[in-house]
Amino acid sequence: MKTDRSHELFTRALELIPGGVNSPVRAFKSVGGEPFFAQRAEGAYLYDVDGNRYVDYVGSWGPMIAGHAHPHVLEAVARTMRDGLSFGVPNPLEVTMAETIARLVPSCEMVRMVNSGTEATLSAIRLARGATGRARIVKFEGCYHGHGDSFLVKAGSGVMTLGLPNSPGVPAALADLTLTLPYNDFDAATRLFEEIGQEIAALIIEPIVGNANCILPREGYLQHLRALCTKHGALLIFDEVMTGFRVALGGAQARYGITPDLSTFGKIIGGGMPVGAYGGRRELMQQIAPAGPIYQAGTLSGNPVAMAAGLATLDLIQAPGFHDGLERRTHALCEGLEAAAREAGVAFCTTRAPGMFGLYFREGPVETFEDAKASDTARFNRFFHAMLRRGVYLAPSAFEAGFVSSAHGDAEIAHTLAAAREAFAEVA
Ligand SMILES: *Cc1c(COP(=O)(O)O)cnc(C)c1O
Repeated sequence: MKTDRSHELFTRALELIPGGVNSPVRAFKSVGGEPFFAQRAEGAYLYDVDGNRYVDYVGSWGPMIAGHAHPHVLEAVARTMRDGLSFGVPNPLEVTMAETIARLVPSCEMVRMVNSGTEATLSAIRLARGATGRARIVKFEGCYHGHGDSFLVKAGSGVMTLGLPNSPGVPAALADLTLTLPYNDFDAATRLFEEIGQEIAALIIEPIVGNANCILPREGYLQHLRALCTKHGALLIFDEVMTGFRVALGGAQARYGITPDLSTFGKIIGGGMPVGAYGGRRELMQQIAPAGPIYQAGTLSGNPVAMAAGLATLDLIQAPGFHDGLERRTHALCEGLEAAAREAGVAFCTTRAPGMFGLYFREGPVETFEDAKASDTARFNRFFHAMLRRGVYLAPSAFEAGFVSSAHGDAEIAHTLAAAREAFAEVA
């Protein structure tokens, strides 16, 4: 496999960009080796600067649910772009976007657009603190909510891959306000709320954890958290930056029938452009400036080109049967991988939701962060490279979820499973 041009670029990048990358997990640190540089992408495929082609199960970490460079999205961007890139005054697409989100996710009676998932969660927490007059927040071990100071406490994949429990630079005074719970542990949550429930502004959770590989909620767990928050006057925030519009049209909250107080989004609603959003109950959202006193702003928020890309993507996923199709493909992929591992005698299991999956080099089931951490990561790393050499790009970390798009057809899944049979044999 030719890698000369990627290697040359990475060498130059290392001189000028910390770690050679603009986001840590891209650096291949945990799997070893060097990242490849993308030239272009189309449908289910990424093409690198050395002419290699990969079936892509990362999908830009979530946004590309309809596949790369979808003509409908590109046309919307091109059309919008011709009228100017940014106005600094309101534009009509922002209204359409707010209406679309509110229609697809009924718990979001009002919405504010921002530029990343990180901004969305930061803003949601500020709102929760301002609205409740309380300071503490609760998160879960292995959940990632962007790189805001308050969230870099036991924060999942990116941080975990680097072996950092927490990040230096986060003042202890702030980190102390963030309490962490083990995901899927009913009693731990009950106990914490009984002790200090009246001090908790908000509990924030990835309803399906996608940043500690992929962990699904136990039956009734999200309902339990909803009940605890309601009883103790804390706000429930669903961070749906990853699950939103993916695991169901209405996100994980629709799939599990829960109404959070606030929700955060990103990734898919930008269709590949930098976008985030947060929304929730009207009475809460009305406290955001300039309607209310809680400040939050953004020079490029609601950018017309970004709104166009997001809206075009949201059009595509509203096609009848879109999410059923995603679920079928994800299922076929995961069943096929499990069968290939069995054939090779490799201890392996998968977890899955429509359009996202987790791969574990251990026997199932995987229901907690401890279970996820017990995966044989050394074997995953060898498997990752064995797949990469065969033209399949999995997330370059044992702690990241994988993504399936509507562009992953039978041919791509068959190619993946053929590669996997060889790769499992190689790592057995
Ligand atoms: C990706 C992600 C974020 C952060 O979004 P950015 O756009 O990278 O800032 C926050 N929460 C979850 C659940 C995510 O998956």
